[in-house]
This record gives sequence, structure tokens and C-alpha cells, in this order.
Amino acid sequence: MTKIRTRYAPSPTGKMHVGNLRSALYEFLIAKHEGGTFMLRIEDTDQERYVEGAVDIIYRTLEKTGMVHDEGPDKDGGVGPYVQSERMKTGIYMKYARELIEKKEAYYCFCDKERLDSLKTEVVEGKEITMYDKHCLSLSKEEIEENLKSGKPYVIRQNNPKEGTTTFHDELYGDITVDNAELDDMILIKSDGYPTYNFANVVDDHTMNITHVVRGNEYLSSSPKYTRLYEAFGWEVPVYVHLPLITDENHKKLAKRSGHASFEDLLEQGFLAEAVVNYIALLGWSPEDNREIFTLKELIDEFDYHRISKSPAVFDIVKLKWMNGEYLKAMKEEQFFELALPYLQETIKKPLDLKKIAAMVKTRIEIFPDIKDQIDFFEELPEYDTAMYTHKKMKTNEASSLEVLEEVLPLLEEQEDYSNDALYQMLLGLVEKKECKNGYVMWPVRTAVSGKQMTPAGATEIMEILGKEETLKRIKRGIELLKNAVN
Ligand code: GLU
Repeated sequence: MTKIRTRYAPSPTGKMHVGNLRSALYEFLIAKHEGGTFMLRIEDTDQERYVEGAVDIIYRTLEKTGMVHDEGPDKDGGVGPYVQSERMKTGIYMKYARELIEKKEAYYCFCDKERLDSLKTEVVEGKEITMYDKHCLSLSKEEIEENLKSGKPYVIRQNNPKEGTTTFHDELYGDITVDNAELDDMILIKSDGYPTYNFANVVDDHTMNITHVVRGNEYLSSSPKYTRLYEAFGWEVPVYVHLPLITDENHKKLAKRSGHASFEDLLEQGFLAEAVVNYIALLGWSPEDNREIFTLKELIDEFDYHRISKSPAVFDIVKLKWMNGEYLKAMKEEQFFELALPYLQETIKKPLDLKKIAAMVKTRIEIFPDIKDQIDFFEELPEYDTAMYTHKKMKTNEASSLEVLEEVLPLLEEQEDYSNDALYQMLLGLVEKKECKNGYVMWPVRTAVSGKQMTPAGATEIMEILGKEETLKRIKRGIELLKNAVN
């Protein structure tokens, strides 16, 4: 059996979007599942779309996601160069284009812009398509030679037959057959001497011994033309896996402008790389059971590309948040604290015990930016409505709360030990004395010290963090507010 070799072949045109990341991930998983090789190839032949810094994003993303490539521009595996603009300098594309010309599978085309503009355009599936009319196919050998000698600009086009059909196989979509008459004579070599993506991709996949190609299904319609190139050369066609579209919650194509579509944007929004990778793995693929949480290592073990689904995958940010929350819950306390620290410090400037606060929120947030909302009351008591003191189940209301707080205040003033345990015992003592439910005391106290309906911890844990002085201040404020409300 030939060893599996997959490639991630991004064009350095900007951010790394979810769709690209999914292709990369599946390529990585297919290779690693079989102990094969995962290769990185930079497809930079479209110089107009080249974006400065985009190559760095590609490397950063592979590193942050843990998709370590075995070969690439920085790791020679003997089939380089791994950057198409560098491969071009070796003359490889021109050599293969000439071979096709010899075989009459390609031809020089000298048509100028004016002539091309005058060609008939057809609208196919909402897109304007101009089929080249093979005008230059009928040039004589002498005419071609003369044009070349005089330096007339030219492109090299694929020569597709007008009759017959072409069939290719995709792992997901099965056999697809198209009429050759539908195949445009696409450009293989551009007038600037660069190969087109379409041509370079085929030449490189073959010469770099790629066995499996995973990419978005926007390439599906070009695949017959690629197949014809493989056939013309007499090369073996790789296994194709064209992935279904990723849509947003409204089943619209995931738009690049919506912030959550790029990997680095997601990290900036506070998502963990591991959670994003885990989530993206499930955008079109599912394991045999309904399991959802996978480390990269587990994905490698489980991934079987035959289980990829054809139906569009919905990118659901709510689900991703849930998954991220699961990763946070499972994380070691120390690591959580380290990662949460910048977010804690952004909200809390006072010298409070941030480690304890971090432990309180760990299981209550889905992404780090959620922290602020959970803990902002520690920094400053918010303005709050005394209606919050009323709690049906706890049987509290504003009057009962006022009474409790007035009883609690002197106890808290006397209390020296402000540890959670000591405070809890002290309040329990009051509960026993009053022969009431815990909540009857705890609810008003917690409300007074937090000013919030929901807090990441109970009354005494909060007081432990706040310390005596601040606690007393807040209890007094509660009494003051309740007095105004009751009278
Ligand atoms: N350079 C192409 C892209 O970034 C790669 C497509 C493919 O994997 O063949 O979309």
C-alpha cells in the first residue's frame, strides 16, 4: 500500500477562515490516522491576491492548533520547493505545459483583451462564464513561432474536447460525469508566466506524491478539468474529498465578514484553540457514537474520512461556546488561572485574591470574556434594586431582609476571622437561633454584599474575598437602601 500523503495548500490571501482550517484539519487527520505524511505547500501564484503577513498566519495557526506538518517550506522532505513561486523558478510548470502542447492537450493563445471581451458570456448558476472559442487552436505552427519570436504576450490553455464526457470520482459525491462541451479551455500558464492555481495544483499534487486531496466543494466544478489533466499526463488521480459548505445559523454561506469566521478572530474572542479544533472537526464529520469532546490525539485515532457527511455544516457559535466551556471545566486550576488572569485583572484593580475568584468562575463561564460579568461586583458594589431581596422560595422580602441584615451587622463587626468557614459557621449560628431556613439569612446577606441576582459563589465565600471592611460597608449600604424601601 502506498503511504498516505496529504497536503494543506493555502493561498496566502489573508486570515485563516473556518473552512480553510477544516480542510487543513481533515488533511492532517487523514494522514496521521494512517501514519502518513502531512505536508504544507504555499500556493502563491496569484500575486495580485497575495497579502503581506498571511504566510505567518498560516504557520501560527498550524502551531496553535497542533497540526504539525512533516514537510513544508521550513521542513524539506525531498519534493520541494514547497512554495509555488519558488517552484515556478525551477521551470517545472512550463515544462509540463509544453509536454501538454506536444500531446495536443494544450495550446498557445495570443488573443488580446479586446478579443476576449468580445466573446459570448453565458450565465451558469448565477455566474458569468465566458467559454473560450478555441480561436488560437487553429494557428499554424509558423504563426505560433512568429508570435513567440516577436514577443507577443500569450497564455497556455488546456485543450478540452467538444465531444464525449469526463468522469471523476469523489469520496463523498461519488462518480460525477460531465459533458466535455461544458469544459472551458482554462488557462494553465498566465501571460506573466505564472501557472494558474488550477494547473500548479495538479502538477504539484502529482510531483509531490499527494494521495488524498481535501478541499471545499467550490472546487468540485473544476475537478473534471483537473481529471483531464491527470489523464493527459497519464498520472494517477488522487483521492478527492470535497467538503460540504459551512453555513451560518441562517443557513447562509459563512461570510468572511462575520467575525467568527476566522481562527485568530475566534482566539481573540476568547476561545481556546483546542476547543475550536474540536468543534471544527465535527463540522461535517462525526464518530460512530455521539461523542463530542475530542483531543487532537483522540481525533487522530477516531477520524475516518468515510464518515464525512455531504450535508452543509452549520457553524453554530452557541455550540462552540458550550464546547469551550467544557474545555474550561476540564482544565487544571493552575492553567485556568494563568489564562484567565488578564481578564481578571481587566475587571479587578483592587488587591483581591484573584486565584480564589478564578476558581469560583471556572465552571460558570463558556469563554474568558464572560468573566467580567461574573466578577465585576467584587471591584465595586453595583447600583441595585431592593426588589432583589424578595425571594419566594427563601421566604424573604424587603422587611425580613432588613431585619436579618440588622442582626448580622453587629456579628460581622465582632467577627475577626473572615475565612469562608468561620463566616459560614457564624451565620449558621444565627439561622439556628432564629429557627429559620438557611436561605432566609444567606439570601439577603449575599444580595447585600454583591448587589447581584446571580453570583459565582455564596455569601460567605464572597465576604472572604471582600474582607471585613468592604463587607461591613456593603451590609450598611443594604440596610440603608432597605430602610428607604420599607418606609
Ligand atoms: N490554494 C487553494 C485554496 O487556498 C487550495 C485548494 C486545494 O486544496 O486544492 O483554496
